[in-house]
Amino acid sequence: MRLILLGPPGAGKGTQAARLVEKFGIPQLSTGDMLRAAVKAGTPVGLQAKAVMESGGLVSDEIVVGIIADRMDEADARNGFILDGFPRTVAQAEALDAMLARKGMKLDGIIELKVDENALLSRIEKRANETVAAGGTVRADDNPDAFKTRLDAYKVQTAPVSAYYSGRGTLKTVDGMAPIEEVSKAIDQLLG
Ligand code: AMP
Repeated sequence: MRLILLGPPGAGKGTQAARLVEKFGIPQLSTGDMLRAAVKAGTPVGLQAKAVMESGGLVSDEIVVGIIADRMDEADARNGFILDGFPRTVAQAEALDAMLARKGMKLDGIIELKVDENALLSRIEKRANETVAAGGTVRADDNPDAFKTRLDAYKVQTAPVSAYYSGRGTLKTVDGMAPIEEVSKAIDQLLG
């Protein structure tokens, strides 16, 4: 099973991806998680990505396409994966198409979580509060300023990715405003 989860920041992609990991036994490939790990480890990619991530902007296509290509080659991704946070630009979607064609792989589903824009900031704030309550560290970009930039990046650079896939008839949408369990059920139904 090879899936893409699309949707704005705070749509619930990570939550649903975690469920799909359990269900299908395939890894979640989150470019955001991989980039945060690179920043933490101080790798060359992390050093390049840190400031732009903190501001809420997008890291270059070249960097993210490179890390996804490497990650897809790892053994645990051989039987499938859930892409979370990638592709985020049309150039990334085109690079992914080329990558999959080279590997002789096809996508089984592209699912977009549709969420009311006004709900997103409060979801991000809730995530930050829950992280603090659990004793964790709040993401550097889970604050109102960076969030605004992230939402703008989504509208300008990522919304066209949905159009890219819907133009080919491969995009399916789910109401991401529904309770988590219902969103999960709707996704299960789409995947058959
Ligand atoms: P996320 O965890 O998906 O919200 O991603 C956090 C941040 O990582 C984003 O705001 C971007 O700065 C960066 N990022 C993650 N995925 C991508 C991507 N596919 N393309 C460009 N930047 C990305």
